[in-house]
Amino acid sequence: MMTKISPPLRIPLLALVASGLLTVILMSVRMSLFEAYLYDFRMRNQGNDTKEIDVVLISSGEETSPPTMEQHYKVLQYLSHSPVKSITFIENFSESFEQRDPKNETFAKRFSALANQVIKDGKLFYIGTKLDVTGEEILPPFPLSKLPHYVAILHKDAAVFSEDKVTRRALLSINGEPTLHTLLADGISNRPQNFKRRGIIAAPEVKSEYFMINYRSDTREGKHPFKVVKYEDILDGKVANSLFKNKIALIGSINHDNFNDYAYTPFSREIFANPKLVVHANIIQTLINNDAIVLASANVTALITFILTAAVIFLVFRTTPAKGVASTLLISIIFIAISLLLFRALDFSLDLARPLLGIFFAYYIFVPYRLMMEYRRSSEFEKQHEILLQVDELKRNFMSLITHDLKTPVARIQGMAEVLARNAHAESDKQVVSEILSSTEELNRFITSILELATVESNHIKLQTSSKDINQVIEKCIDKLSFQAKNKNLKIESNLEPLFPLHIDATLISKVLTNLIDNAIKYSPESTTLTVSSQESDRKKGFIEISVADQGFGISTVDKARLFHKFYRPQNDYNMTTKGYGLGLYLSKFFVELHNGEIEVQSELGAGSTFTVFLPEQGVQISKGEPHV
Ligand code: ADP
Repeated sequence: MMTKISPPLRIPLLALVASGLLTVILMSVRMSLFEAYLYDFRMRNQGNDTKEIDVVLISSGEETSPPTMEQHYKVLQYLSHSPVKSITFIENFSESFEQRDPKNETFAKRFSALANQVIKDGKLFYIGTKLDVTGEEILPPFPLSKLPHYVAILHKDAAVFSEDKVTRRALLSINGEPTLHTLLADGISNRPQNFKRRGIIAAPEVKSEYFMINYRSDTREGKHPFKVVKYEDILDGKVANSLFKNKIALIGSINHDNFNDYAYTPFSREIFANPKLVVHANIIQTLINNDAIVLASANVTALITFILTAAVIFLVFRTTPAKGVASTLLISIIFIAISLLLFRALDFSLDLARPLLGIFFAYYIFVPYRLMMEYRRSSEFEKQHEILLQVDELKRNFMSLITHDLKTPVARIQGMAEVLARNAHAESDKQVVSEILSSTEELNRFITSILELATVESNHIKLQTSSKDINQVIEKCIDKLSFQAKNKNLKIESNLEPLFPLHIDATLISKVLTNLIDNAIKYSPESTTLTVSSQESDRKKGFIEISVADQGFGISTVDKARLFHKFYRPQNDYNMTTKGYGLGLYLSKFFVELHNGEIEVQSELGAGSTFTVFLPEQGVQISKGEPHV
């Protein structure tokens, strides 16, 4: 048997299932380029970290390109006398040999001998090499090939990840051997054997390990934080060797004519912007500081994508469209802000592409879905509303037909009863006929009320306004009801202030006042006093107020709220014994509002009631859509 899911659970469940599906789809799609863009964005905005810079760059490019072995030797000689910690040549020595300088071989030998001496003196000395297309190390020419040499290549994202040739990661080891950068950093920092490196990612298929470079700051020339010394300046004796105190001297070419000396970085993808030497320095610095960027695992990414998409779907269904847009935007902004903060403060990179696309898709798939559902619901509602309107009209027509048709026979009965009353002699006959007369009168009143209601509801009522002294209208109403009041020994006091004539429909206002006074008589015990007063209103400027106050049974708070509703009669003792249809106050309110006025009641159980009618001094302002004169 199928169990039905209860409506309050339906949306959370839908959100969970849909976001689960979206997450699975998103996790199976490659979106490295987008991710790389977001990674670079955070790298560029992570702030500069240039406090501890251990590398000084020596550029062999420009005027000395390529340098002769004699020039290399002289630079080494200069450095050997400096307080430098490590000397590393990332140079293509073969180019120097290609110059066929007869002195090359002599100086190469001297260079080797001096390098060995430097090593003996306790400094680190390395030559950085490249790999050929088969993955073999390209050695420097003999005798330099006998010196310590290690692979120092820059990794470009060319085959994997974003394939945009940007250098974001660096090799820790290749074919199981540490790279030059690793040896250098470890040599400088005296690392223990079991030193735990941060953010190392294994690539077992190529027997290597890599990590994400934590660039100190911008890598562009003139903007990077490393000092650059030129070969010619060293050769001309212009550089003080204290500059190299406890530093790593990194020697390589920065030649503006050779694009091989430059790389793309997250900071710039222009051809001659970022010297490779600067990237090497950043790699070494990342290893020394042990602050490689840690990438979030796929599981973390999946979890975040799932949570965020579920939240967006839930919000789209649960809040108004405007709030939906606002909260979706807010979620995205908060998520981006958190990811920036994590990158900045903890060097941790969350995967942004999938969660953001998750939010985007969740929003764009589920908003139309919600609209469709709402459209269906509102069209159903409209249909029901239309049916209700038709039923209401049928009911009104039916009531007006019936009451119309009733009117004539009732009038005839009344006429006959009056004839009978005149001719009746026996006391018992007179009694019966007077009963018939009062019952027909009551029936007549009921029919009139129903007919009035039908006219009011069909909006067919037309105001017949004229300028009237409202006090005269009030007095007439009191007169009409004085007999009834006398029957109950009630005193009617009137307290009428002289007022300017009002522009009103006197018939309708008479009906209102008659009803209020009639009610006051009906719902008051014998021998009490009613007060009818009129005056310019203090509470509502520009209005006159007419009030009918009694010392009657009063009205409870609950009943007061519904008193002006159609057919409403409170369920209480005095209503059991008093006849009425619950229409008088409903119609009174309607008529007063037609005059742009208001009606209110102040009352408490057992403490009498005061009904007040406010009418505008200016008379009726007829506006569009209302019944017209
Ligand atoms: P009806 O008098 O025909 O019942 P109304 O619409 O005129 O219909 O009044 C609705 C109800 O409001 C009455 O049934 C009565 O309970 C209450 N009511 C009206 N006027 C007074 C009053 N002056 N004092 C106490 N109750 C009143």
